[in-house]
This record gives sequence, structure tokens and C-alpha cells, in this order.
Amino acid sequence: MITAKTLKLSLKSLKDFAKKRLPDETLIQLDERDECPLEIVRHMCDPDKLGIQLLFIPEEFGGMGGGAFDVYCVCEEMARIDLGIATAVLATFLGSDPITVGATAEQKKLWLSRIAEEGLLFAYGATEPEAGSDLGNLRTTADRIMQDGRVAGYKINGNKQWISNGGVADVCTVLANTPAGPSWFIVEKGAKGFTHDEPEDKHGIRLSNTAALALNDVYVDADRLIGGVEGQGLNQAQAVFGYTRLMVAAFGLGGGWAALDRAIPYSTKRIQAGAPLSEKQGYTHKLIVPHAARLEAARAYIEETALRIDAGSEGSLNTEGAIAKYMASEAGNAAAEASIQALGGYGYTHEYMVEKISRDVRITTIYEGTSEIMEMTISRDRWQLHLKTRGQHYHDQARELEALDARHPEVGAGAAALALHALAEVMEKARLGRLTRYQHILLRLGELIAFAECAGSLARRAALMAEGKLEEKASRRFDAAALAALSRVFAREAALKVAEEGLRWVAGAGGVSAAEMAPFENSLGLPAVHQAQAGLISDMDYVADVLYGRTTKRTVQAA
Ligand SMILES: Cc1cc2nc3c(=O)[nH]c(=O)nc-3n(C[C@H](O)[C@H](O)[C@H](O)COP(=O)(O)OP(=O)(O)OC[C@H]3O[C@@H](n4cnc5c(N)ncnc54)[C@H](O)[C@@H]3O)c2cc1C
Repeated sequence: MITAKTLKLSLKSLKDFAKKRLPDETLIQLDERDECPLEIVRHMCDPDKLGIQLLFIPEEFGGMGGGAFDVYCVCEEMARIDLGIATAVLATFLGSDPITVGATAEQKKLWLSRIAEEGLLFAYGATEPEAGSDLGNLRTTADRIMQDGRVAGYKINGNKQWISNGGVADVCTVLANTPAGPSWFIVEKGAKGFTHDEPEDKHGIRLSNTAALALNDVYVDADRLIGGVEGQGLNQAQAVFGYTRLMVAAFGLGGGWAALDRAIPYSTKRIQAGAPLSEKQGYTHKLIVPHAARLEAARAYIEETALRIDAGSEGSLNTEGAIAKYMASEAGNAAAEASIQALGGYGYTHEYMVEKISRDVRITTIYEGTSEIMEMTISRDRWQLHLKTRGQHYHDQARELEALDARHPEVGAGAAALALHALAEVMEKARLGRLTRYQHILLRLGELIAFAECAGSLARRAALMAEGKLEEKASRRFDAAALAALSRVFAREAALKVAEEGLRWVAGAGGVSAAEMAPFENSLGLPAVHQAQAGLISDMDYVADVLYGRTTKRTVQAA
């Protein structure tokens, strides 16, 4: 684990480096030229220079042994600088993950030490032309080459698609079907038969090299099979999802805030109808405030998940990673889109950067699992919890938040509890009507689950802040009063969304008869959810004042 002080220093070096080497004009030119600045990426990964990749390599292999929380902080900062460059660095994290989780002791020593010492760039080769969301459809093969009755090596054949760093990586981890099932292999640049295409001409992250790979009879020795046992590939990929999706979540967060942090100062200077836009409520409360609240809800969830990973939580926290990625990437996209609107015509030009950020952050809802696959992952897992607990899972969580609300009535925990109670009722109605046979219902439940769980996280984070117990490394951009107001804004949105959209989908799928409608509406707590909206505008006013620095410290106010 690295200390808060070391992390702070690393983040500062990263910021200083970006300020010097990657000013806006440079980023705009590279984006226009569709060019990956390889020298910059290598500088960032060079152990004698920035050495970012040292962060995630265990100390025993020459790294700094950073945990998930550290990685989240660094990923957010990188995304604030440029998501393409962040992706190039991420590819080494991703590419070496199968080694970190599944390799033999000798393989770990060799490859992780080489990343630490030589700054090797990795690529992660999973996706194929026919196997995107559905990796089970993998076509790349790895055939055993036998010698004296034992496996001496493998011949790999196939094609990989959309591989970040595909054209520039020194080493690629490649997922291929062996006779015993999907397995990861380490393939080095220059291996005979291993080639890549020209970089893709992409919508965004144009500073990242994305290329298709071809493997034609590429021979690798048996010691390049990660873990030395065939058929472990999908398990190894699954084992790191909690962690890797958290990184992409941090990208969504960083991208979203990078855009808002351009819209906020812009609107203090742009005078329309006699006053700065920042003073117009119809502007701030649509284009700025709700996005800040959603981003901070996602942050709260990311931080809770990262802390659980670092505490050695059982299981891979796959679903938590999915919720974090889903919320942060969707919130990041919405914030960037709103920031274009916030800058009006200027927002629509290259020069003002929000247009580039918006194109860049778009990728976060696609790679490392699309938003729809996240919805499915979340829903399937939490559905099992609903069944196992006979419908009590979310009622129990709601009761915990009610207890928090009793101690801290200001942090929005009451409204978050309403969201969770309503969610439990929606899921129960879906169970009774067997509505998850409709895929759309299953996926919409995934969305509602993410909103309700994130509302709970943000309320807890606001309470920790109020008690002075927030994790030392956590962002302190907002004080306790501001965080509580952000939480109240988000919790109201979550409660209304879960109750009303839950009703919409359940009724829409024929799950409620006319006679059942009134009792169902009641069970969702709709009157209480509606009542909880009281005070929303004044909370939004307060959040806007905080974001625009128009307020001095405020004592924490009750909802
Ligand atoms: C810039 C970029 C960089 C990338 N980097 C890497 C990398 O480094 N390594 C790597 O291995 N891959 C990488 N990818 C691939 C990425 O992970 C995949 O694009 C992604 O997983 C989606 O797969 P797909 O493109 O085949 O889309 P598809 O799976 O065909 O999906 C298309 C649409 O259908 C939806 N969909 C798919 N299945 C279902 C379903 N069962 N039910 C409902 N809806 C569904 C999806 O959500 C999506 O909206 C990268 C992609 C891009 C664009």
C-alpha cells in the first residue's frame, strides 16, 4: 500500500507533467492529427521518469504496490488530462492483469519485473470481430505443439479487434481457445506471424492507438501460457473485472468533471441578458448541478468498492465494479454532453475542448463491457440476492439507511432509503409476474439498482465526511455541508426514478392488474417519494453556490 503522501506526490507529478507537456493546444493538434503521442506514453511508463505503471505492480517485483483506491485516484487524474493517453496507460494495467491474477510465480517475477524495470507497454487482446460482449464466441485458437509426449508450445491463429495499444505495445496478452478452453498467452511484438493493422479512425480517444491484430501460426513456448494450465482464461478475466471496471469508472468520473470544470468558469464570464450565465438558475440547475450530483454519487460508489477490494473483500466484486462503471461512465457522458450545451456555439467547436472531452468519454460506456452488459450483470446478480433473502435484501439496506438518517438527517439517507424500499417492491412484483423473462425489464432493473445503491453510498460518504472519518486519500473538494446537499439532490432523483420508472416497467410488462395498481403504488411509497422532493430547489441553489464559490462555509442543514 502506498501512503496518502506518496499518492498526493504522484498525482502532483502527473498534473505538473501534463501542464508542461500536454497543454490544450497540443492535445487539440494530436486529436486532429489522430496521433498517439508514443513518446509521452513511454515517458509516463518509464520507471526513471513518471513511472505510473509502478503504482500497480507489487513491491516484490519492483513496483509501489498501490491498491485499488490509489489506482482509482490516478485513473481519474489521467482522464482529466486526456482519456486517450489514459487508455494507453490503462492498456498496460489491463494487459498485465491476467498475469497478476493467474500467472505462475516465475511468470509473475519475469513479466511484472520487466514492466517495472523496462516500462514495457502491454495490450490486452480479448475482443474479436465476432466476439465482443460475448467472449464465449472466441474464434482464436491455440493448438498444442507436442514434443517427446509433452506440450512444448502452442501455435496461435486468429484475429483480434479494437485492441488499445495494438500497434505500439511491446507485449500483448492474447485470449485463445486451447483444447481445454479459453486461455491467456503472452505474445511479444515481432513474433513471427504476429501483425497489426493501421490504427482505427475513431470518434474519440484519438490519442490512443487502437488496432486490429492478426495471428497467423504464431508460435509461443509453453511457458507463455499464463498460469501453466489451459482453460482458465475466462475465470482469470472475470477475477479482475471488479478492479478493471473501477478504473474505467474513474475514467468516466475524470472525463465528466474535466468537462464540467470547463463549463463552470466559462459561465462566470459569459454575459447573456445582462448577467453571467452562472447566475441563471435555469442554466445551472439543468446543465451543471444534477451532473455534479450524479458524478459524486458515482465517486462514492467507486470509493466504497475500492476500499472493499483493498481490504481483501471476498469475491471479485464484479457486480460492484459493474455498478461503479455504469454510473460513472453514464454520468461522465451526460456531464460532457451538458458541458457542450453550457458553452453554446463555442462548445461545438474544437477550440474549447468540451467537444473533444465528450467524444473521448463516450468510450467509457463501451469498452470493458458496454452499459447494457453492465445492466445485465448488475441485474442478474442482485436478482439472486433478492430471491435468496426472500425479497428482503433491499429492504434491509433501506433500514440501515433509515438508521443513518436518524443520526444524520441532513445526508439524504431518508430519500435513499425510499429508493431502496421501492426497489425491493419493484423486484418482488417482477418476481411474482415472472417479468425478468423480458430482457428489457431485466436490464432496466439493472439501471434502477445502480441508482438506488449509489444513493446509499453517497449518503454514507456525506455522513463520513460530517464525522471526519472519510478515507484519508479521498477527494475533499466538497465539505460536509456541500456533500450533504449533493447527496440530498441525488437521493431525491434516485427515489423518484426507482419508484416511477419501476412502476412504469412493471405495469408495462403486464405485472399489475387494475385492482392491484393502488396497493402497488402505495407499496412503492410514492406519496413519500413525492413529498421528499420538497427542498430540492434550495438544495440545488446551494450546490450551485458551492460550485461557483459563492458561499462561505455553511453549517450542515437538515433536509
Ligand atoms: C476504442 C476502443 C478500444 C478498445 N480496447 C480494447 C482492448 O484493449 N482490448 C479488448 O479486448 N477490447 C477492446 N475494445 C473492445 C470493446 O471491449 C468492445 O467493443 C465491447 O466489449 C463491445 O463489443 P462489440 O464492439 O463487439 O459490440 P457488441 O457486443 O456487438 O455490442 C453492440 C451493442 O449491442 C449491445 N449488446 C451486446 N450484447 C447484448 C445482449 N446480449 N443483450 C442486449 N444488448 C447487447 C451492446 O451493449 C452494444 O450496445 C475496445 C473498443 C474500442 C471501441
